[in-house]
Amino acid sequence: MGLNFNKVEFIRSAVKPADFLRDGLPQMAFAGRSNVGKSSVINRLVNRKNYARVGASPGKTSQINYFRIEERAYLVDLPGYGYAKVSKAERDRWGRLMEAYFASGLIFLGVMIVDARHKPTADDVTMANWFFDAGCLVVVVANKLDKLKKSEVEPNMRQIREVLALRECDALIPFSAERGDGKDALAAALCSAMEG
Ligand code: GDP
Repeated sequence: MGLNFNKVEFIRSAVKPADFLRDGLPQMAFAGRSNVGKSSVINRLVNRKNYARVGASPGKTSQINYFRIEERAYLVDLPGYGYAKVSKAERDRWGRLMEAYFASGLIFLGVMIVDARHKPTADDVTMANWFFDAGCLVVVVANKLDKLKKSEVEPNMRQIREVLALRECDALIPFSAERGDGKDALAAALCSAMEG
């Protein structure tokens, strides 16, 4: 039975571990560098224009946003990383919140948004390893596919797979939040993970 991502409801933001949801529904955690298009990917997936807020703003970078899909799973929007303009205090807050969330055992599946144009950054590699260490399957979304020439797609996907050291079981999905490419493939990968 597929998940209907149109049936989405914002539940709450968490700024500290006491705010984490622990009701047993599977949590699909979306992570990505600031500006990679994480909000745009989420909005595309749930068919809303502005559900996840597009455009990071300083001071709002250290919160986890929970959306419930069909009362069956959570789409968890993790705070973006690598945003140049945040203070050290803000970065520390980000680190503490993320460490607590990754240690909580609450993540069912990791969804990592990377830029289809570029080699994954050191931060991307670290994030992938956090998911692996947490024992999660990972789905990687290579966003901004519309910016690539056709001939670049294959080699770039190979590079992303290699640099992030994805395993056979981890899906890599070429995606364009702008055009809509990969939306059905992403929905299918998330459903298939849910069904085990
Ligand atoms: P976030 O910081 O990761 O949540 O990124 P946003 O969703 O706010 O997007 C950052 C910028 O990238 C915005 O200007 C988006 O319009 C743009 N963007 C997001 N997805 C795509 C895409 O698939 N293609 C292109 N060309 N631009 C995109």
